[in-house]
Amino acid sequence: MSIEKKNRLIIISSPSGAGKTTLCKLLIKKMKNINLSISYTSRNKRLNEVEGKDYFFVSEKKFNQLKNKNYFVETAKNFNNFYGSPFNNIKKAEKINHHILFDIDWKGARKIRKNFDKEKIIDFFILPPSKTELKRRLIKRGRDNNNEINLRLSYAIEEMKHFNEYKYVLINENIKKTVNEIKKIIEYNQLIFNQKKILNKSLKKIINT
Ligand code: 5GP
Repeated sequence: MSIEKKNRLIIISSPSGAGKTTLCKLLIKKMKNINLSISYTSRNKRLNEVEGKDYFFVSEKKFNQLKNKNYFVETAKNFNNFYGSPFNNIKKAEKINHHILFDIDWKGARKIRKNFDKEKIIDFFILPPSKTELKRRLIKRGRDNNNEINLRLSYAIEEMKHFNEYKYVLINENIKKTVNEIKKIIEYNQLIFNQKKILNKSLKKIINT
């Protein structure tokens, strides 16, 4: 029996500092059939970031030009910077039957939900174990100054209010455990889809014979 594959749009949102970036990287390493959607941003590149790997860093002017050309599936403004997910990443993943993973905020997630079939989307909201832990992680990361940390912390608290818009909410206490859980959910979703397909085929057969 051939198992049909279906590529999904996987969304992972979480307040910055909840460990999302590491989590996405680990997940991609673990699952060979996922492509990461590399966003465009008008914010400055951080020291440890790589152009074309973490983001495509562009000027605000260039960002707006691309936006006007309908280059993006969705865009959002965070901390006075623009972010956008390009369409072409989805097409590339679809061609090779890979899932595509979006590391985007709740505003972006809402837009994706509006523009695609519900069946096609698996969305996760990752929570830090506590607000205190979140602050500790933001400070430990050491890449932002105090103002930036406080801005991100208040934004995180705002963002966390949207967790109930997501199908899966996970608390990231142990990164490896969280990655395994996400992997299982993605594979389980695939399984349900395949079972449905097989069931549909069998039903048709029964009806037609
Ligand atoms: P950071 O500047 O820390 O890399 O990202 C700030 C926030 O913007 C994070 O919550 C991140 O998930 C979100 N973000 C990154 N890229 C995109 C994007 O293309 N679209 C949307 N809507 N949010 C994004």
